[in-house]
Parts: sequence; structure tokens; C-alpha cells
Amino acid sequence: MTKDIYDIKNALAAYLARRGVPEFSLKAALVDMDGVLYDSMPRHARAWVKMMASLGIECPEEYFYLYEGMTGAAIINQIFKERGMGEVSPEEAKRLYAIKAANFVALGQPEMMPVTIDILGKLRDNGVKRVLVTGSGQQSVLDRLSRDYPGIFPDDCRVTARDVVHGKPAPEPYEKGMALAGVAPCEAIVIENAPLGIMAGHAAGCFVIGVTTGPIPEAEMWKAGADLLFPSMSEFHALLPDILSILKPSNL
Ligand code: MG
Repeated sequence: MTKDIYDIKNALAAYLARRGVPEFSLKAALVDMDGVLYDSMPRHARAWVKMMASLGIECPEEYFYLYEGMTGAAIINQIFKERGMGEVSPEEAKRLYAIKAANFVALGQPEMMPVTIDILGKLRDNGVKRVLVTGSGQQSVLDRLSRDYPGIFPDDCRVTARDVVHGKPAPEPYEKGMALAGVAPCEAIVIENAPLGIMAGHAAGCFVIGVTTGPIPEAEMWKAGADLLFPSMSEFHALLPDILSILKPSNL
């Protein structure tokens, strides 16, 4: 079902009631990377499956969509814990993540998500700060950001796996993102494609816009705490002028 301006108004009213705040004033967008900036999740999932298989651990690709947003070390520990294999040392987690990262690189560069650059450009043109908030430590992708999204994410406005103690679904990455932008929760939207990322943005108190760009069903996104949900970046893009007019009243 196509969203319209009333869905945005209803989502805002529900957010204000939930947060107990009188208004929302959009000043910053906290933006996830995988599945939002890049169509990278299928490659990540394949790279993880291959690394785990090399350890004799069988995991379906779907696992890694559900774990999306967690840091690499957290994903490794989660899978080992589920199998009663005990805790992984930080050194071993680093070694295993390096194998996964190399597998990912071998699969070739992921494509940029269509229209995301237009969405972020429009946010910038409307005076909305942009902060990257990713659980990724995949340097091969992080290194491309400035080239692929020129002028979108200032160097000092990036939160990656290296910057947090507790990654998504904990609120810390988005709290750090807000601190970098100098904004409060009722001034920040989160743009996410994964349930754990949505949970993190929700726990941080932000207005969370979910976009289902992968195989995870919409119900999981709502359950995780999405305030607004789009079935594609194109639909999000189409409604962006309305989102700006409602969440950023000074834009009128
Ligand atoms: Mg993502």
C-alpha cells in the first residue's frame, strides 16, 4: 500500500505521544550503510557463510540478514554462543572477521542503492546534517564513501564498528551519531533497513524510518520499532518532500 502524507502525520503524532515531547524539529539524519547506501547485504551474507563453512559451521544466509547491524565480533560471538562453542577472544574474532572481509572483497564491489544519493542530497540542501552510523568495519566499503557520496558525510560525522563498545541493537551507535551532530533525539531521523538497526534507533529515541531493501518482512521492522516504513528507497524518495514539510516545519 502506498504511503501518503497522512501516514507521515500519524507516524509523527504516535512518535510525539510515545516520547512525551511537544514537537519534532528535523536537524540531522543518522544513516545506516549496508542496505541503505549500498546493495551490499547479499555479498556480506555470502562472505559470512563461506567463512563459517571454513570452520565447519553451517549457517544459512538468512541468519546474517537478521544479525545485520551488529559488529563483526558480536556476530561471531553470537554464532559461537548458539552452538555452545564458548567465548571468542578479541584476537580470534579479529582474525575471523579479516577472513570474512577478504571473502567480501573477492565477491566484487557492491552497487550503490538507487536514489539514496538524491535523498541525502535533498536532506543536505534543506540544512539537515548527515551522520553515517554503521556497525560495519568493512574497510573496502568505508573507503569508497567519500567518492560515492561526495559532500554527504563529513569525515568527523561517522560512527563505525571501531567507535562503539556496544553496537546495534544497543542505542550507543545512534547516541554517538547524535552527539557528533549536536542534536537531541527529537531532532534526528534514523534511516535503517534492518531490525537490529531499527531497535538501536528506537532505543536512542530517534524517529526511525525503515526501508525494506532486503528479504526481512515488514512485520519484523514494525516489531523492532520503526516509526515509518517504506517498501523501497524509491517510495521513500517520492515522499521526501512531505517528510521534510512535516518533520522540519521551518522548511515551509
Ligand atoms: Mg543496514
